[in-house]
Amino acid sequence: MKALVSQFHALNVTQLNRGGWLYPNTTYEWVWRTNKGTSIEAVKITALESSVELFIPMESTRMLQRVSLVYSAGPHGGKRPWFACPQCQRRAGILYHAPSRPFFCRRCYGLAYPSQYQSRDQSYGRRHRMV
Ligand SMILES: [Zn+2]
Repeated sequence: MKALVSQFHALNVTQLNRGGWLYPNTTYEWVWRTNKGTSIEAVKITALESSVELFIPMESTRMLQRVSLVYSAGPHGGKRPWFACPQCQRRAGILYHAPSRPFFCRRCYGLAYPSQYQSRDQSYGRRHRMV
């Protein structure tokens, strides 16, 4: 059985870019919270010229993972950033990680979206019987 995306923490490069978090030499903590606002995990991030450094909390230390950024031409002459997946080097808009594990793309983790597991029966509406 595949793991579901919702069990992993997602890091969205577009979200980082829009928030101005990809400027070189910016350091901050990216925090994932539960619906109730409780902090689950914080990953320290340092943005560099064409990569980001992720400090992933391990049991007694932090694991440093460097992820390269690649750019494609945007629709209005701008540049759209992507992560280069550290494992397969494919470009990805979102990288996933679970606590104590590195960030990889969805394909590397073999993640499935929850909707792929919806019961097929749910898509059948109740039939109206014409009497
Ligand atoms: Zn990958």
